[in-house]
Amino acid sequence: MTDWLEQLTTQHVRDLTPYESARRLFGASEGNQRVWLNANESPQANEYTLQSSLLNRYPDCQPPKLLAQYAQYTGLMPEQIVTTRGADEGIELLIRAFCQPGRDSVLICPPTYGMYAISANTFNVGVEKVLLNQDFSVNVSAINSFVGKVKLIFLCSPNNPTGTIMAQEDLECILTAYSNNAIVVLDEAYIEFSAGCAKTALLAKYPHLVILRTLSKGFALAGIRCGFVLSSVHIKSILLKVIAPYPVPDPVAQIAMQALSTVGIELMRANVKCLSAQRTLLSEQLRQVAGITLMGDQCGNFILFNSAHSKALMHYLVEKNVLIRDQSKQVMLDNCLRISIGTKQQNAQLMTLIETFFSQQKGSHSTNQEVAR
Ligand SMILES: *Cc1c(COP(=O)(O)O)cnc(C)c1O
Repeated sequence: MTDWLEQLTTQHVRDLTPYESARRLFGASEGNQRVWLNANESPQANEYTLQSSLLNRYPDCQPPKLLAQYAQYTGLMPEQIVTTRGADEGIELLIRAFCQPGRDSVLICPPTYGMYAISANTFNVGVEKVLLNQDFSVNVSAINSFVGKVKLIFLCSPNNPTGTIMAQEDLECILTAYSNNAIVVLDEAYIEFSAGCAKTALLAKYPHLVILRTLSKGFALAGIRCGFVLSSVHIKSILLKVIAPYPVPDPVAQIAMQALSTVGIELMRANVKCLSAQRTLLSEQLRQVAGITLMGDQCGNFILFNSAHSKALMHYLVEKNVLIRDQSKQVMLDNCLRISIGTKQQNAQLMTLIETFFSQQKGSHSTNQEVAR
């Protein structure tokens, strides 16, 4: 880069590196002969209609009908809901609203979703880390020792990539410790896959609780970028101070409203049921493979596993045009890979490749032994 441009760039931006999203690692344009099991997307798209008669107008900042539908879906009031450009924008709004750059910090519990730290870094906000326990539950006492030192606590349930659900008593213990001194953010991006575990009812009891939601996972709409922040009316009014004037393009609102209609929600539930059955089948098959250990739990639309051969397996699958996600750079997740549940055919294809790979490993292993002998 030229010197003057480098000089113009702020110090903390100079030090940033772009997020390695699944789509940046392997572009969507690289051909659709590939099997995409690396970004926790739905393997199938639903059909929607679009009306163009209002595209000459700026959209509502917060389309009232969309908020009303999401309120009905969650049992909350529209006044408690902000719709955003994906849950990722919700993360960003919270950091911008509550953290003073260069001074304040957020707390995260790795291994977890990468965007909390990325967003904090982008805004020059500090990141404190409290690792999950060995069983991937949250370390409540360590988290609570940061009272007074952090403005936001990011928790994720079901957690990506461990697939674990947070115990309600842990959550309430954290909420109690941080009452009146921080915002506790619960990311429920995968809640449709564990519907009974939603914590929306706690919003009435804890005014500093915020819940993040998205249409990207269970609703199979990652392409439209639509998310929701659920909170108290007071927190909503603060977030609306920092949100962009037109965060939700009109076509996005149109599609989101179809997805949140009675029919749309039924369709989502049927799709989630299918994927969950596929997830159960695939985890049972993976459990049979010597050389694979399932990790965490399977409360989302993905499976995390460990294998001593993870690097070679990843390489083998890429060569065969099947993409899963390498998680081995994350703390506590050495040699771990994550599979997003695909269609029945895609999962079967993946399983065949995995079995072939491990039978070859066994073959080459015994050959080595023979040579050694
Ligand atoms: C996918 C994901 C998100 C991002 O959702 P978008 O609405 O697509 O921005 C947020 N949190 C977690 C844990 C995720 O896995």
